[in-house]
Amino acid sequence: FVCTSSVAALEVRPENPVAFVGGQVLDGYEVAPITDGVVIFEKGIITAVGSSKEVSIPANAEIVDVGGHTILPGLIDNHVHVDLIGHGSYERYYEFLGGTERLHEVMPIAAKQMLRAGVTTALDLGAPYDILNLRADIDAGKTPGPRLLVSGPWITRIEYDTIPDSYEEIISSPEEGAATALKLIDKGSDVIKVWDGLTQEDYIAIVQAAHSRGVKVHAHLYAPEAIQMAINAGVDVFQHVGSAGNPPYTAALVNDIAHKEIPVVQTIAHRVWVYPATQAFPSRLKRAEYRTDMPKDIYEEFMASFENFHQLPYFRNAATEIRNSKKSAGQFIAAGARIGVGTDAASPLNTHLEAIWREMAALVESGMTPIQVISAATKTNAEILGVFHERGSLEVGKQADIVIVEGNPLADIETLGRVSIVVKDGAVWATENSKLPEMSASNYFGLTAQNP
Ligand SMILES: [Zn+2]
Repeated sequence: FVCTSSVAALEVRPENPVAFVGGQVLDGYEVAPITDGVVIFEKGIITAVGSSKEVSIPANAEIVDVGGHTILPGLIDNHVHVDLIGHGSYERYYEFLGGTERLHEVMPIAAKQMLRAGVTTALDLGAPYDILNLRADIDAGKTPGPRLLVSGPWITRIEYDTIPDSYEEIISSPEEGAATALKLIDKGSDVIKVWDGLTQEDYIAIVQAAHSRGVKVHAHLYAPEAIQMAINAGVDVFQHVGSAGNPPYTAALVNDIAHKEIPVVQTIAHRVWVYPATQAFPSRLKRAEYRTDMPKDIYEEFMASFENFHQLPYFRNAATEIRNSKKSAGQFIAAGARIGVGTDAASPLNTHLEAIWREMAALVESGMTPIQVISAATKTNAEILGVFHERGSLEVGKQADIVIVEGNPLADIETLGRVSIVVKDGAVWATENSKLPEMSASNYFGLTAQNP
């Protein structure tokens, strides 16, 4: 590669067009793959997508043979927490971080893990405004990470003890709710997140205020009564609803959401898929990337938090939740609801390095086909976030956000865990797993440890 690294040493943007050839292309739509596909981008923009017979490759292009791999749009995670790294206990985690004092140390770890996992856009649903510094560093190319949209603090009437105050905006009236929503938008929130404990009037006031600025409201809800109030108020996206932690909802409620085409981001894998997977294979927590990406004391605290993880309060109801999971998770899918993909990463054990493929695999297990889930995590997620005009599919003119995985995710969705190359905004990253000759040695751009 002939490269420039003008933005920052960490990011490498090829000067010439780059052509990925020989792979299977999934363009983000629910259609058959292009089996002998070519994707070309130049300076951050996709310039060609098609079969090798149709696409002519520019003479000055850098050609990367990705035979045996699948090329797809950069994945979008519609529910993350960049301040978390999968630590076993929220209480102990914030104590270790000194509240929000060390947030600036852990957020880049999370951001890098997401990029490694092929997540090129993420919606953070609930963090203090420290996250705006991280977003600026990512945008400037100083910190590897996905493009971030953020809610900032969430709006609620119930104070949550285990979390520092700067995560929450506590309101006590609809007027306060509306004013808070406007204040958050002024500070930089891309979406408004509402949480439990609000009244019908609160929801109406908050949604009206947010919509007056063209901003969507995401509701973090489980209880049927609260969900109904949120529907009545015109909330835009449901988060966690239909997550496997819940008993199933009534058909009427599910059908109402499906008919109104309100997107549902279920976050089903955290807890009920991740917990048994970890019990079955505890070694998953010992992946080298955790050690290499974290400063020593953070890594040691991260590992120590998993001792006796079956006793962690977060998994107190895991047995019941696992029993309920299959029914609840499949309900919205069976009803034909509009499904987005979000992970709630990095809740306990649910690390950013694995969360997205685990969620997508859980959705397949719950009734979606692999191509439906892939389209949900790219095209649909981009539509939910209002960014589909610029990303979420592989189309000429769109931003060069591309993921290349080894193998065929249409046959085995878990191959999405085998990411070889991530392109974000035309910057090319190779992971440790990349076996592609063109990406090795001197062209190894390194999502390797940046810790000295
Ligand atoms: Zn969450």
